[in-house]
Amino acid sequence: MKIERIEQFFPRPRVRLVKITTDDGLVGWGETTLEGKPKSTMAAVEELADYLIGKDPLRLEHHWQHIYRSAFFRGGNVLMTALSGIDQALWDIAGKYYGVPVYKLLGGAVRDRIRVYAHWGIRDLSEEGLARARERLDRLQQMGYTAFKSGPGGKWRGHEPPAVIDHFVRCAYTMREWVGPEVELAFDFHGKMTPALAIEICHEIKGMRPMFVEEPVPQENVDALKLVSDHVPFPIATGERLLTRWGFREVFEKQAVAYIQPDVSHCGGITELKKIANMAEVYYMHILPHCAIGPVAFTASMHVDAVVPNFLAQEQVDQGLGHGLLQEPWQVVDGYIELPTQPGLGIEVDEEAAARTVPYTEELGGEFYHDDGSVADW
Ligand SMILES: [Mg+2]
Repeated sequence: MKIERIEQFFPRPRVRLVKITTDDGLVGWGETTLEGKPKSTMAAVEELADYLIGKDPLRLEHHWQHIYRSAFFRGGNVLMTALSGIDQALWDIAGKYYGVPVYKLLGGAVRDRIRVYAHWGIRDLSEEGLARARERLDRLQQMGYTAFKSGPGGKWRGHEPPAVIDHFVRCAYTMREWVGPEVELAFDFHGKMTPALAIEICHEIKGMRPMFVEEPVPQENVDALKLVSDHVPFPIATGERLLTRWGFREVFEKQAVAYIQPDVSHCGGITELKKIANMAEVYYMHILPHCAIGPVAFTASMHVDAVVPNFLAQEQVDQGLGHGLLQEPWQVVDGYIELPTQPGLGIEVDEEAAARTVPYTEELGGEFYHDDGSVADW
């Protein structure tokens, strides 16, 4: 069996797909979405296709090694996202070839269903804002979700006056009042705080018992992250912008967080996500795989979640379930998704829907500045 064809699709903002077809007609799908960089990974996949066409698709680890290590320069989010999507598509082919879901090739499931968490929060305390938040919460709770994540949003300078901090703190405590003590609530700081501000805010919200705070500071400086963790009495998480085991090594060795959040479409695909998760187990860290993109990446994540003992919950955004892109979108029942049962990734992409291309500009994030004209973090 040989790889015959590699095609790419861009059906929505934050959803780019790669389809690999073999000479005996097997098809594998992967997701190469790199948020805010809509053209780069498509170009990278085109380059990698020259290497892959004519090769045996079942030599997954070999191809991973070649793509990562050849041509001298390693890593970076563009190459790793292209590699991640290709890796997912090759696993899809391997599962179909052997006639089993991918997680059975990864060692077999250690759980029967995957706990997912949804995005929900209160950001606006006005009557209309609260009504909107209540409506979404009711809908999500009817689906059985037991964990939610939101964030402070907006632009944060090096420090903010009490009114800004207090508003976020009031939102957090209102959320806890609404959901009660059985539900977990997490906050994503999007790496836009300084260590001091992150620690200050975490202390203000510690009484409502967050599940975790994600990316309190940017990802480049592990000592700064460790500083936050050491001063906060609840779990800190990070990792959506870290790539490969080597990218996580320092986080592990410094015990810089409680939870890691590798993204299956950035960190190196199914192959690398499982290795990172297995490394995390040694450090008593759980994984909360990041996934704020499309349904193929979401599905790929679930196959790793199924086989990793130190899995806590899977991030899931509305479009991850696949409505309008998968023939059979995923269903959340009582806060969980049942393991896929079909061979490969266990999904069928609606190719007609996938073939609708959106303009690249729809995904560009725009320009984001503070009042004084200086650049703000998104
Ligand atoms: Mg995040």
